[in-house]
Amino acid sequence: MKLKTPLLSFILIVLSAALVFGQTNIRVSNPLAEQIMLGNYDPVDYAATNVIDVPETIIQGLIDRISTDSLLDYFKKLDSFYNRNTGSDTVSETTGIGATRRWIFNKFQDYSLANENRLIVSYLDFDQDVCGMDKHKNIIGVLPGRDLTKEKILLVEGHFDTRCEGGCDTECYTPGIDDNGSGTVLVMELARIMSKYTFDHTIVFTPVTGEDQGLHGGTAMAKYIYDNHIPFMACFNNDVVGGVICGNTSSPPSCPELNHVDSMNVRIFSYSGSNDSTKVSKHKQLARYIKLNQEEKVNPLLTVPLNINIQIREDRQGRSGDHIPFRSRGFPAIRFCSQNEHGNGAGNPPDRQHSTRDILGLDTNQDGEIDSLFIDLNYLKRNTLSNGANLALLGHSPPTPDVNPRDNYDRVGDKVIINLEGVDTTYQHRVGIRSRGSGTLYFDYVLDFDASSTIEIDNLDRGKDYYFSVMNVENSVPSLFPQEYSRKNLLGVEYPEFIPGVNMLQNIPNPFSNSTLITIENFSDKEYQNVEIIVRDNLGRFLRRVPTYLGLGKNEIKLSEFDNLKGMLTYSLIMEGKIIDTKRMVKVN
Ligand SMILES: [Zn+2]
Repeated sequence: MKLKTPLLSFILIVLSAALVFGQTNIRVSNPLAEQIMLGNYDPVDYAATNVIDVPETIIQGLIDRISTDSLLDYFKKLDSFYNRNTGSDTVSETTGIGATRRWIFNKFQDYSLANENRLIVSYLDFDQDVCGMDKHKNIIGVLPGRDLTKEKILLVEGHFDTRCEGGCDTECYTPGIDDNGSGTVLVMELARIMSKYTFDHTIVFTPVTGEDQGLHGGTAMAKYIYDNHIPFMACFNNDVVGGVICGNTSSPPSCPELNHVDSMNVRIFSYSGSNDSTKVSKHKQLARYIKLNQEEKVNPLLTVPLNINIQIREDRQGRSGDHIPFRSRGFPAIRFCSQNEHGNGAGNPPDRQHSTRDILGLDTNQDGEIDSLFIDLNYLKRNTLSNGANLALLGHSPPTPDVNPRDNYDRVGDKVIINLEGVDTTYQHRVGIRSRGSGTLYFDYVLDFDASSTIEIDNLDRGKDYYFSVMNVENSVPSLFPQEYSRKNLLGVEYPEFIPGVNMLQNIPNPFSNSTLITIENFSDKEYQNVEIIVRDNLGRFLRRVPTYLGLGKNEIKLSEFDNLKGMLTYSLIMEGKIIDTKRMVKVN
């Protein structure tokens, strides 16, 4: 028994070292790409000779130009690299992660050449021990925005690494066609097509590495943007976006039955603040923005529409993706993911993801050509279009209005009055209205208003709680929705406000006996004094107040000495007198 203590502390030290160091030495190989992301450039140097800048024209251009032949060619090339494990070969010209990233990099250079060198191509290098390999590269293509007064970065990503059943197997055949060749070719096709167009905001196209071993490439990129104070607008992650066939072990929320096909729906995963769907979250607001545009501006142009399914969860149960490192740093981030997918290499018959079976398809008549694809190229095209159309709209969007419930909202009877005096009276507005308990994550309805200093919304149900989101509209291009705010029935009570970049995580361990640790991430740009954790029992009775402050990054608060207690407790994060979040924990013995 005596041996246990030193062994345990050794393990703890090793674990925390890994957590502290993470990805290091993150740098951009092309200094020009960095300067553009920082906004230090003259847009005239990147002006297109033939300016195409009207979002509607660009969306039609995407419909005409996204090519299923081009997508298929990329898939065949990705397949030829045999194994794209993050730790696989970097020397060979034909196989492994090294050959893969050089091919993507060269394709990006080709897209730039075809478009007056407007796409600035670079690697994002970083160091991290992954499967015995310690140097890694993402690819980035930066399309400089035209308007430095609006300059905020939009980013679209997809991981190009793959894995077999063995997470570090660098020898197996692992073509990773759906996971995540599909996201990779989507990002490549957008880089190819969108480099022709002009946007006010800068767009970054980035195939990333290291996802399947722990979100390393996505984290390196998010960290790079955060640490360098690059003004950031939104992250679109694409991971598993081409398959339409249901396997039998997909993680919940799952598809209906083996071999069920769905090419009409796509899921958008994003953080809620918790798994409580009624919570306000700028990530959900980004998902709503995508759905609204898809329904109003994209689907009417299509013979086969795409339905956006906003998900409660941040990802499928037990799974994760490269949008999470962006979200955890306070950046709006979502994940596109097919409605139907094949699960995690298990089941009978076994599913395809993370196995040698994630292939392009079958040669059913044995003539040496694959004639039955597991990927639906038209479905993948529609997902590519949804990304591109929303990037095009955000790329020309006016600023998000700065409205808040204390200064701008008033509720009188069945009416809410939003006062925009001194905020954004020059724009037209749209207001998204969502009632609490309506069972949907989407707006009940959206209203349009001409430019004016006051917005009146009437005929509201007096007994209901509502959430309101106001967007600016300029030349029929909508801004991103700001933080969603609510007014509670007739009392007009404000709900707790989510502080951007501050997240309280679930305590570890949970359940606990002697002590437990609560981590609070602070990825905002300031430290907070006047912070406390309040612990209550399961009847809501006050037990303990733990005053603290929040430094930048991760803050850990240890709770101990609850000797006589057992059962369910709650802990709340209080900042500047307001409840920011409450979670449950279980004390045993
Ligand atoms: Zn993946």
